[in-house]
Amino acid sequence: MGSQIRQLHMFFFPFMAPGHMIPTVDMAKLFASGGVKTTIITTPLNASFFSKTIQRSKESGIEIGVRTLKFPTVEAGLPEGCENLDLIHTSQEGNGNLFSKFFKATVLLQEPLEQLLQECKPDCLVADTFFPWTTDAANKFGIPRLVFHGTSFFSLCATECITKNEPHKKVQSDSEPFVVPNLPGDIKLTRKQLPDFMKQDVEADFSKMIKAVKESELKSYGVVVNSFYELEETYVNCYKNVLGRKAWHIGPVSLCNRATEDKAERGKKSAIDEHECLMWLDSKKPNSVVYICFGSVANFTSSQLKEIAMALEASEQQFIWVVRRQKNNEEEEHWLPEGFEKRMEGKGLIIRGWAPQVLILDHDAVGGFVTHCGWNSILEGVSAGVPMVTWPLFAEQFFNEKLVTQVLKVGVAVGVQQWVRMVGDFVQREAIERAVKEIMKGDKAEETRNRAKALAEAAKKAVENAGSSHSDLNDLMEELSLRRH
Ligand code: UDP
Repeated sequence: MGSQIRQLHMFFFPFMAPGHMIPTVDMAKLFASGGVKTTIITTPLNASFFSKTIQRSKESGIEIGVRTLKFPTVEAGLPEGCENLDLIHTSQEGNGNLFSKFFKATVLLQEPLEQLLQECKPDCLVADTFFPWTTDAANKFGIPRLVFHGTSFFSLCATECITKNEPHKKVQSDSEPFVVPNLPGDIKLTRKQLPDFMKQDVEADFSKMIKAVKESELKSYGVVVNSFYELEETYVNCYKNVLGRKAWHIGPVSLCNRATEDKAERGKKSAIDEHECLMWLDSKKPNSVVYICFGSVANFTSSQLKEIAMALEASEQQFIWVVRRQKNNEEEEHWLPEGFEKRMEGKGLIIRGWAPQVLILDHDAVGGFVTHCGWNSILEGVSAGVPMVTWPLFAEQFFNEKLVTQVLKVGVAVGVQQWVRMVGDFVQREAIERAVKEIMKGDKAEETRNRAKALAEAAKKAVENAGSSHSDLNDLMEELSLRRH
């Protein structure tokens, strides 16, 4: 496409958190495979996280450029090297303060970004939702800005419908359910399950930013969404036709990773050797292992981890459990019940740190996924055709849960009632055990699995030639090419 003339050049500028960077790198790969010159804009430390991915792409003939901007950690009062949100831990003193400093630091990137835009004059800037100022920055140079939210159409619609109609202000208590007005599907939520910034003026800074996000979205050229039409048709239509947004669905972007290495190393180096992990899974029967992972930033308390361990043991299911804690020889692992690992030998695998998630989910042995409902994880679960236990913690995860359990019916809710940033609300072992058994065993599990498998087929079709996402991707590239003449 368009290679006779000057090649289309697109900038991709992801927010510095794995859940945003991973799909953006995949997106850059997709556009590059379509013949677009692509450049990822990030900070030096973050660039190193995906340098191997870029190298592998290059070897397969897909060139992706990288330009770095120095992250103003010192200027923003952040610890040296704190260039990614996942480096801020709950254990750090005043982490709320660090969050706010982190967001402030990103705003300081406006000037260096503008210099880069002036120098390279790309035809389009795909910038993360958390960088609302990029619409104005791009406009200065006549460059269209596309917003990447990194979430579902469903949650974009739910957010908009709640913000506009404020149903949560019309209920008597935090736990009284309300129906989300104008959102198809009779979706019920409670005030407790809404993000803090939607409820009141707690976190004034973040609320202000969210307001700026919305304004900048309305001024931007459009929105690219990591989803596919067949998955959430009603909500794609609602977003485009009722809420009036210009949007392109181009996902699931993770499906561009076909080789084992590409699936195994997205974003970070895994804490487990991928071959060891595959060998372990190869020794298991199809659909016999449940995979438990809560994304890249959630951080449970020790008592919650212990509760999960006891629930897994009681469920009698085989498992791979990802825990974001390193083994420290000096200190006992108080979060594990005594003798747990010995008893679980051969039956359960704990990965401490980063797991090769897509590689694991795609393995036949995996028959269920306990997820925090981050959008990337859900789409990866959908693409692999595995039923899910939904365990939302914070962000827009409670919305995604409703899509999985109520609309798509490919998951069972563990029953979380309350939005709590990073650590989540406490879930009792009985609830975990019940939900795990429900997706792994019995006739209902079989039905859920069949629906999940059908969605996985639809996901694959969507990204193939002439599929819905493939077509939208081509339409977008064509529109951008035509626009510059
Ligand atoms: N991920 C991974 N290994 C891990 C944890 C997470 O590969 O141990 C990847 C996961 O596959 C997904 C992303 O990190 O692509 C997490 O994004 P998501 O939206 O699910 O959640 P977030 O981390 O943003 O809360």
